Order: sequence, then C-alpha cells, then structure tokens
Amino acid sequence: MDFRPLFRVAPGARVSLAEINPNAAAVGFDAEDKAAVKSSLERYREEMESFQYRLYADGSKSLLVVLQAMDAAGKDGVIRHVFSAMNPQGTRVQAFKQPTPAEAARDFLWRAHLHAPARGEVVIFNRSHYEDVLVVRVHELVPEEIWRARYEQINQFERLLSSNGTKILKFYLHIDADEQLARFKKRLDDPNRHWKISESDYTERKFWPDYIQAFEEAIEKTSTEESPWYIIPSNQKWFRNLAISQIITETMREMNLTLPMVKVDLEAVRQHYHAAKSQAEKIKQSSL
Ligand code: AMP
Ligand code: MG
Repeated sequence: MDFRPLFRVAPGARVSLAEINPNAAAVGFDAEDKAAVKSSLERYREEMESFQYRLYADGSKSLLVVLQAMDAAGKDGVIRHVFSAMNPQGTRVQAFKQPTPAEAARDFLWRAHLHAPARGEVVIFNRSHYEDVLVVRVHELVPEEIWRARYEQINQFERLLSSNGTKILKFYLHIDADEQLARFKKRLDDPNRHWKISESDYTERKFWPDYIQAFEEAIEKTSTEESPWYIIPSNQKWFRNLAISQIITETMREMNLTLPMVKVDLEAVRQHYHAAKSQAEKIKQSSL
C-alpha cells in the first residue's frame, strides 16, 4: 500500500483532525504480523540509507523533513527509529526550542533558514518554523495579524527552498488525547523516561482544542504541491515509523538520486595503483 496518497493533504483541502482516526487499524493495519512489519521497516531503512549515500555524494540536492506534533506524539521516536538508518555524515537534526535572544531579535524564519539543509544534506526539524503559528498563536505571543501573515510567509520561504533544490516533507504525528495521557503515565512509571517529563506537559494539554485548531489551519494553509503535509496516524508507534519511513523512501526514490560522474581518468588512476602495488612488493621482497 502506498501511504502517500492516503495521508497527504491536498493543496487547499479542509483539515478536520477529529475526523481522522489516529489508529493504524483504521487503515487496515494491525500489528499481528510483527515480523512482516519489522522486515518492511528494515527494507525502507536500507533503501533510505542508500538514497542518502547518493544524495550526499552527489551534493546537489537536499532533503528537509519537518516533524510537528502534540507533546508525546513521538517526534523523538521517529528520529531514533527512522532516521538512525542514515549516515550521521550528511544528516542533521535541528530542534526548535523557545527562541534565544539572538533568534527572537530577528524575523521568525531567520533561524529556520539558518538551519535549512545545505546541498547534499538531510536535515530533520524537530519542531520548526511552524511553532510560530502554533504555540505562538495558542498563547497569543504576538497579535493575530502578525501570526496570520505568517502562513503566506512560510509558503514563500518553502517555495524558495524547494526551487533551490530542497525537497520538503512535513509530518504531523496524529495521536488522540487518551493516547497522550497513556504516554504521560508511562513517563511517570518508567524511571528511564522521567527526564522527559515537563510541568508544561499538563499545562499545554489544557490547550488541546486550541492546538488542534492551530494545527488544522496551519496544515490547510501550507500544504502545497512542492511542500506537502502528511497526517500520520500515530497512536501505534510501529505504524507511525513504518508509514513515515515508506513516505521518505518513496519520495527519495523519485528524486532520481545518482552517484556523481567520475571526476578522474580511471585508466590513469589504475596505472598509478599498479605502479604503487609493484613498488610496495619490491620493498617487501628487498626486506626479506
Ligand atoms: P521540547 O521540544 O519538548 O524540547 O520543547 C520545546 C518547547 O519550545 C516547546 O514547548 C515549544 O512549543 C517551544 N517553542 C518552540 N518554538 C517556539 C517559538 N517560536 N516560540 C515559543 N515557544 C517555542
Ligand atoms: Mg516536550
């Protein structure tokens, strides 16, 4: 099954998250066949790795993956389980926190542009410039006319990147409020996860409907042909990882990534090699 047409938000489409089931079963997947899921994921991971190898070697295009979601929806998990397939050489994760004084002193896209991928790079935005129409809107950190103008500014920014060789994929990890609470409990129960707990988890949760509204409008206004949003049912982690890795793999396949043309005269280099080899043998012989 190709997940791309299933989860991609068409340009101009209305988005109602309440009407989208966050469970894998809703699209006909259950975890019964764990081995099959595991082997599909492994296959995508291998393909992604080889595409990224070519992207890096070629050095002319780049890939930007934006991850946005409610707290505990699994952005970190996607980075661990999906992007770990790629070589750290040529891959970067950029997290977006509360703006630093230097960031806050500039326009909201400044830091996004600063961290956008160079040619040959894959960059993952763990949160992104979208926070400036999400948390900023929900908490009224700037007046409405300011954040409202940002949808178009984001579209222009992303058009600039994509027309300069950056492929953009944006994922909204869709969980429901019950699943979030279940994950908060897991964080409480598991000492290995205590470090993830933040007081703001619960204060932000109170704004759930406001965040949903902000996400819906952001996705509606900024899902474009060249920079699409995908809404991924994410209540089940294994399905979330499977769907995202497939979408990335198929997108990279369509980028027609090839290894660069050889820059040297291979015949001449072969001769250098043979000369060096016989030289090395001579030295070995004479030291016997
Ligand atoms: P975390 O990703 O859990 O480390 O949290 C980062 C926090 O920074 C989240 O609460 C975000 O909402 C917040 N954040 C990210 N970008 C912005 C922004 N532009 N303005 C205000 N808060 C932000
Ligand atoms: Mg957090």
